[in-house]
Amino acid sequence: MAGVRERKRRMVAKLVDVHLNNYKNSGAELVMGSGRFIGPKTIEVTSVGSAIRVLRGRRVVINTGTRATIEATPGLREANPLTHIEALELDHVPEHLIVLGGGFVGLELAQAMRRFGSRVTVVDRNNRLIHREDEDISEAVHELCKDEGIDVVTNTRITRVEGRSGESVKLSADRDASAIVLEASHILAAAGRTPNTDGIGLELAGVETTSNGYIKVNERLETTAPDVWAAGECAGSPHFTHISENDFHIIAENIQGGRRVTTGRQVPFCLFTDPEFARIGLSEREAKERGISYRLAKIPFGVVFRAQTLSETRGFMKALIDTRSERILGFSAFGAEVGEVMASVQVAMIAGLPYTALRDAIFAHPTMAEGLIPLFSNVSLVPAVTR
Ligand SMILES: Cc1cc2nc3c(=O)[nH]c(=O)nc-3n(C[C@H](O)[C@H](O)[C@H](O)COP(=O)(O)OP(=O)(O)OC[C@H]3O[C@@H](n4cnc5c(N)ncnc54)[C@H](O)[C@@H]3O)c2cc1C
Repeated sequence: MAGVRERKRRMVAKLVDVHLNNYKNSGAELVMGSGRFIGPKTIEVTSVGSAIRVLRGRRVVINTGTRATIEATPGLREANPLTHIEALELDHVPEHLIVLGGGFVGLELAQAMRRFGSRVTVVDRNNRLIHREDEDISEAVHELCKDEGIDVVTNTRITRVEGRSGESVKLSADRDASAIVLEASHILAAAGRTPNTDGIGLELAGVETTSNGYIKVNERLETTAPDVWAAGECAGSPHFTHISENDFHIIAENIQGGRRVTTGRQVPFCLFTDPEFARIGLSEREAKERGISYRLAKIPFGVVFRAQTLSETRGFMKALIDTRSERILGFSAFGAEVGEVMASVQVAMIAGLPYTALRDAIFAHPTMAEGLIPLFSNVSLVPAVTR
C-alpha cells in the first residue's frame, strides 16, 4: 500500500504541476489560502505564514467544490471515519473496511480495497446500489460485488457508531425494520457530498444558496449577486470533473457577453469499477418518469467479439431510441472499456444521427466499438411502455 500511495502521490503531483504551469503561463496570480467573503465581491484570504490579504474583483467566480458528508449519526464523527482523501493515503490494507454508501465513490474504493486484500462490506440506505441508475445496472454491479467477495448490505440505516476507525468500530443499524450490528476495523464515509459553501460569508456578498447549501445559479451560471458566478459542484452542477471544466468554458464566454447555458448539455459519465459502467443521455427510468416513448436495444456483452478475445464478457449494453426520429436518446453499458464505446455513441448523438448510422457503419474488427453493430441491430420493434 505504501507503493500504491507513492504512485498516487506522483500522479497527483504531476497534475498539480500541470495546473501550476497553466497559471504561470496565463499570467494570473495564484494565491494559496482560505478565502471568505467580507463584502460584495470582496474576499479575505488567510494563508499559512503570510499576512491576511483582501482582494476585490470586478468579477468573482466561486468554485469551492464539495466534501464528503459525515452524517449526524451518533458516534460517526467521533469515530474519525476515512473519507476518500484519507483512504488514498493509507499505507496499509484495512483488515475489514465498512464502506458507508453504495454510490460511485464507495463502489470504486470498495473494489480497489477488496482487490488489495481487505475484507469489505458496503452499506447503503437504499434498496439497491447506485440506486439512481436502472435496476439492471444496479443488479449487475451487485453481482460483481458478490463475485469479488464484497458483502453488500442494503436497506440499512446506521443508528450508532462506537469505537474508532483504524482500530475497531461497531455499527448499530436498522435493516428492514430489524436491528443489526456490524463490526470492522475501518469505516469509509462515502454517502454523499456537502457543498463547501458554509462559513465563507456568502450572505455578506449577496450570494444565495438552495436549501441543500448549493449556490443558486441561473442557466448562465450567474449567482444572485451581480458579476458573481459559480462553477462546478458548489453550484450544483453534476458532480464530474468534465462538467466543472465545461462550467468554466460557459462562464468564460458569458463574461465576455456570450449567451452560453448549461441547459440541455450532454453529461456523459463512468463508474470506474472493473469492469466499468458508462452512461450518456436518458436511462430507462428517466424516460419512463418523463413519459418519453422509446425503443430499446440491448445485448449481452458476451456477443461482442473483442470482449470474447479479452475474456471480458461480463455485462451488457443498451440504448434507447426515439420512436419517431430514430435518434439515440441514451446509452448505458456495463462492461470492459465501455467508457470508450460511449464516446462513439456520443458523437452520433451530437451529430443527431439515427441509430441506423451506427448499425450500418463499418467498425474495425475486433474492437469494442464493433459491438455497436449487434447492439443497434437489436432494436425492439415495439416501444417500451411509458406512463
Ligand atoms: C473519490 C472521487 C473520485 C472521483 N472520480 C471522478 C472521475 O473519475 N471522473 C469525474 O469526472 N469526476 C470524478 N469525481 C468528481 C470530481 O472530482 C469532481 O466533480 C470535481 O473535482 C469537481 O470540481 P470542482 O471544481 O467543482 O471542485 P473541486 O475539484 O473540489 O475544487 C474545489 C477547490 O476549492 C478549494 N476550496 C474550497 N473552499 C475554499 C475556500 N474557502 N478558500 C479557498 N479554496 C477553497 C478546495 O480545496 C478545492 O481545491 C470524483 C470525486 C471523488 C471524491
